[in-house]
Amino acid sequence: MPPRDLLIEHLHNLQDRHGGLYPAHLSALAAEFRLSLSEVMETASFYAHFRLLKDGEAAPSAVVRVCGSPSCVLRGAEQLKATIPGAVDAPCLGLCDHAPAALVSRVPVREATVESVMAALMVTPPPPRSSQSPSPLWGGVGVGDRPRDAILAELEASGLRGMGGAGFPVARKWRTVAAQPGPRLVVVNADEGEPGTFKDRHFLDTAMDRVLDGALAAAWAIEAEAIYIYLRDEYPDLHDTLDAAIAALPPGTVPVHLRRGAGAYVCGEESALIESLEGKRGLPRQRPPYVAEVGLFGRPTLVNNVETLYWVSRILEDGAESFAKHGRNGQKGLRSYSVSGRVKIPGVKIAPNGVTITELIEEFCGGMEDGHHLAAYLPGGASGGFLPAHLQPPLAFGCIEEHGGFIGSAAVIVLSQADDLRAVALNLARFFAHESCGQCTPCRVGTARAAEILEQPHWDKPLLDDLSHVMRQASICGLGQAAPNVWQSLLRHFPEVTA
Ligand code: SF4
Repeated sequence: MPPRDLLIEHLHNLQDRHGGLYPAHLSALAAEFRLSLSEVMETASFYAHFRLLKDGEAAPSAVVRVCGSPSCVLRGAEQLKATIPGAVDAPCLGLCDHAPAALVSRVPVREATVESVMAALMVTPPPPRSSQSPSPLWGGVGVGDRPRDAILAELEASGLRGMGGAGFPVARKWRTVAAQPGPRLVVVNADEGEPGTFKDRHFLDTAMDRVLDGALAAAWAIEAEAIYIYLRDEYPDLHDTLDAAIAALPPGTVPVHLRRGAGAYVCGEESALIESLEGKRGLPRQRPPYVAEVGLFGRPTLVNNVETLYWVSRILEDGAESFAKHGRNGQKGLRSYSVSGRVKIPGVKIAPNGVTITELIEEFCGGMEDGHHLAAYLPGGASGGFLPAHLQPPLAFGCIEEHGGFIGSAAVIVLSQADDLRAVALNLARFFAHESCGQCTPCRVGTARAAEILEQPHWDKPLLDDLSHVMRQASICGLGQAAPNVWQSLLRHFPEVTA
């Protein structure tokens, strides 16, 4: 009997082979895993990427997903989707710097047009690329030649904070998990789904060896017995490369398991991600206990984002000072900013932590697109709220909250005078309503109700205030707590467009 945590992998394998999941597949899995059919069904039906088919129903030969995030909509994604028969809307595909983006079965299409999507439908997905060489720092030994305390001290001196969105100090998190009784586990969160975020893709594409090094260093430092990497299903090209890179790790390395997500934004939240890794629906857990104490398979678990582990590797090689000496406007360190929207050169920008929006646009993005001037921006994707151009706080943890937003994973979407802020807000409100796991009423009902209100010509401000208050106070996880930033920030900073 295979372990329950492999259920989602088995669902993927069947769907990859048959184009969807038929009742016989689900029954067979139930028998194989010794689960009830309803347990298999509830997992399969939770995830957007699983297609449940009826007996006799033809499986599609290919699926075209067109990204519906704001950066792609600004570049014509809706018109593109309307002209491709059978195309479905997808939450952010993590290609915001190549908008509009599409995913044709397993083939990402950048700067998508009808012609390029049709061409992708004709090709067989490329074979896995050859793996990159594991870095000499940690790969191949599974143990370091540096004392664990020295590693933790180096990270502490660097001031590195988690780059997944919450910004928790990395060394403190590692110490907390290391202090729990073993066995312990490391989880790599490669499930970025925040509209506007594409840095995990960038780091895995350009520095996979660094990310693996960071994960192996974490496993060494907290004496973990295995590493689980949870990669979003929207990155099939990276899955192949990562699979090959893991296979190339030398014997004796701590076991590294690669798992696919299945199209659920909420699984970027660490406790939902852990539920998903266990082969279940991605429902965020009530806390306490925290995953550092009771995480994957009930074990103390260190969850770190891809970018965080990249910086861990850099800091352990170059020293804390090489990282901490950077920074601007009172902030320390380096970080990535995923910049998309109305700039000349969108992309992942490695910049001093704490740059302002104007510094970021002018120094790192070649300025605004011709004919556009900065009108507003989202500093932290869908969750981080809107800011007007004249507000220029450092783009760093703790610096945006006073304006009603936050930096999160630094998904910076730049908007100009040509953009309809209400339409962007409605897009994001619908996104949250779609992605709410439905587990708690304030979020399930609040996100849906807010989207309905935002569709109206006149927004009911008292009702939105009321909804926002309840959602922030009573939602279990960050999705429901942060969703109101979308409309509340617009009401606060752009009263003229919300009147
Ligand atoms: Fe699910 Fe929303 Fe509640 Fe989070 S806040 S647990 S996404 S219903």
